[in-house]
Amino acid sequence: MMSSTPAPSVRVPTVPPGVVSGETYRTLLQACREGGYALPAVNVSSSTTANAALAAARENKADIVIQISAGGARFYAGQTLPDEQQAQILGATALAQHVHLLAQHYGVAVILHTDHANRPLLGWIDGLVEESRRHLEQTGHPLFSSHMLDLSTEPLADNIAAASTLLGKLSPLGIGLEIELGMTGGEEDGIGQELHDGSPSCDPSLYTNPEDVLTAWENLSPLGMLSIAASFGNIHGVYAPGNVCLRPEILRDSQALVAERLHTGPNPIPLVFHGGSGSEETAIKQAVSFGVFKFNIDTDTQFAYAQGVAHYIRNHEEAFTHQLSPITGRPLKKSYDIRCWMKAGEKSFSQRLTDCFHILGAQGRSIAHAS
Ligand SMILES: [Zn+2]
Repeated sequence: MMSSTPAPSVRVPTVPPGVVSGETYRTLLQACREGGYALPAVNVSSSTTANAALAAARENKADIVIQISAGGARFYAGQTLPDEQQAQILGATALAQHVHLLAQHYGVAVILHTDHANRPLLGWIDGLVEESRRHLEQTGHPLFSSHMLDLSTEPLADNIAAASTLLGKLSPLGIGLEIELGMTGGEEDGIGQELHDGSPSCDPSLYTNPEDVLTAWENLSPLGMLSIAASFGNIHGVYAPGNVCLRPEILRDSQALVAERLHTGPNPIPLVFHGGSGSEETAIKQAVSFGVFKFNIDTDTQFAYAQGVAHYIRNHEEAFTHQLSPITGRPLKKSYDIRCWMKAGEKSFSQRLTDCFHILGAQGRSIAHAS
């Protein structure tokens, strides 16, 4: 698996290991476009999952996107802080500081990103922008590489207006913005309830109109570093085969329309693939060839972590019911030690990501280089 990545034929610019922003973020996006590969964007909600993601990146000599949702950030901060929004800001800040400190030692470049923020979560993003401003003053770098704004359920004009306001705050700090056009389906999104009853989900709201991509790109890309999650039938979560109709040609058509109208080179837009878990390899590869640089994965890596832990517990059952072995009387602490079963989860999580790096063509492509 590790040997299939072709050596890049052109000299690729490098960035220092660690979290990218501003010019280094642009350089990484450009390397993905020119190299024809994408990075997994893995959701984390704890230091153990963040470390498993970093370990997988280092092992695969690949760069990575580490992202956190508002719910994940809330979890990261602990379960008992009474102010929900404050906990979400603190949790995402804590993760960002954790990754900033460690990433450079793992020797890879990391895009640090926040996942879906709808209108009620704009206060969360504003709080993080403040944290980035503080971090920039202290270190010369913002906390996050990019944020996501998901107003895909609102009219295009409202989506663009809000994105333009947010880009006005992010650009001076060297932070990029990801927007969503057309909706990603899935249970948590209230679209695709029929996914369970065996009929394919071809809801028209799941497919972006290339004209909308052109309008958004024309209006927003001059304001800062923009990426677009254009939906092409993708769904959050994993469903039975045949229940999802992916139409990656929508991505190709969007790129072609923008390239033609705005006279750019091929694949001008950095595209994002949401709901990557459970997707077929051919559709993934096609999407990457149409300019997807970021491939979101959450459900599959969560399942992998759970499988690793479950396997460990099944093999050490006695230690999860007794402190001393009822048979031999020996202490079982070495088996129920929290580190042992988390390690098993981390290993399995990293292995799932290795498959992902492979399919996305990212193995061996890290552009991080210590000076
Ligand atoms: Zn998503």
